[in-house]
Formats: sequence, structure tokens, C-alpha cells
Amino acid sequence: MELSDITNDISEVLFTEAQIHDRIAEIAREIERDYPDGDVLLVGVLKGAVIVMADLARELKFHAHIDFMAVSSYGASTQSSGVVKINKDLDTEVAGKKVLLIEDIMDSGLTLSWLVNNMESRGAASVEVCAMFRKPEAVKIPVSVKYVGFDIPPAFVVGYGLDYAEKYRNVRGLGVLAPHVYGGADPHA
Ligand code: 5GP
Repeated sequence: MELSDITNDISEVLFTEAQIHDRIAEIAREIERDYPDGDVLLVGVLKGAVIVMADLARELKFHAHIDFMAVSSYGASTQSSGVVKINKDLDTEVAGKKVLLIEDIMDSGLTLSWLVNNMESRGAASVEVCAMFRKPEAVKIPVSVKYVGFDIPPAFVVGYGLDYAEKYRNVRGLGVLAPHVYGGADPHA
């Protein structure tokens, strides 16, 4: 299927590629101000954060050091019972480093709160979070997010790295997935 055929799959475009890039540029200026010597390790969460990492890293004016982790979360909706498993660990030693976690979207906050604790337990000098999109639900688990791209409504969204069944990641903007695509099932599953 061609990407141009997805018009019917997206019920609403929330942000265009240009709007996202403008916001990324603003965030990059904040990060440059907060880490003036560029002394920070950007840690992206696979796979969704690949796109935001690529755009953010190229927007930064210092030599950006990047690494990736892959995790899976279970029971995110029940929050405290959620379990996070590392599927791919970092190549970089984080002890003593300033870490900036890069996430595509923060929903319950379970994944990010677990990752913050995990980086701290490895002895990171500091741990901050950048989430490109954040849903209102995210306030339920207290995670301090220093950089937020956009707060969005509690709908299931795709594009800009975010998938449904491994599709739509390479859609350039962010849109709400039309309910007929997942046919009433929980799209988070
Ligand atoms: P949390 O642990 O914050 O509940 O979940 C974060 C993860 O859930 C994200 O990294 C993403 O994989 C997935 N997720 C949450 N909301 C959405 C959404 O609206 N669309 C997509 N495609 N994934 C989502």
C-alpha cells in the first residue's frame, strides 16, 4: 500500500511536519541553553523515538552523542503493576553522564518513570526527559518532563515515529488514527 493512500485512516491531522519542526527547533534552543557545553547523552527509546531523535539531534548546534534502548512495557494501564523489560540495552556507559531521555509520546508515564529510575540506578549524573507528545493521562505517574513538544488529546495517534501494527511510523505529521482501522479493539494492545 502506498503511503498516499492513508487519508481515510487518519481522522484528524493534529500537527503538520512544519509545525513539529518549528517546535523541535524551539526545544533544541532550550537544550543548548541548559547544556551549553553539549555535555549530554541523548537516549532514545526505540522504535518510536527514532524520528524525533533524528530531527532533534540534527537541530542541535553541538556534537550530539546519541544512543538507543528498546523496552517493552506490560500493564501500563494499571500503572503500578506495570513491568518494563529491556529488549536492547545502551552501548554507552551512563555512570557520571548527564542523560536526556528522548521519547516519542508519554501516555501513562510508566515507561519514562521506569527509565528515569533505571538511568539513576546506573549512576547517571543527571536525568532529564524530553517527550515530543504528551497525553493528559501522563500526569497520573509523576515524571518530571523538562521538554514537551505538544500536549495532545487522549486519542490514539500515529505518525512521526508512532505506529499502529508497525505502520504509519513514516507519516511525516501526527494524526489521530481513525477508529475503523482498529475496529473497536484497543489500539495500544
Ligand atoms: P506509557 O508508558 O507512557 O503509558 O506509554 C508510552 C508508550 O506507549 C509509547 O512509547 C508508545 O509506544 C505507546 N503509546 C501510547 N500512546 C500511544 C498513541 O497514541 N499512539 C501510539 N502509536 N503509541 C502510543
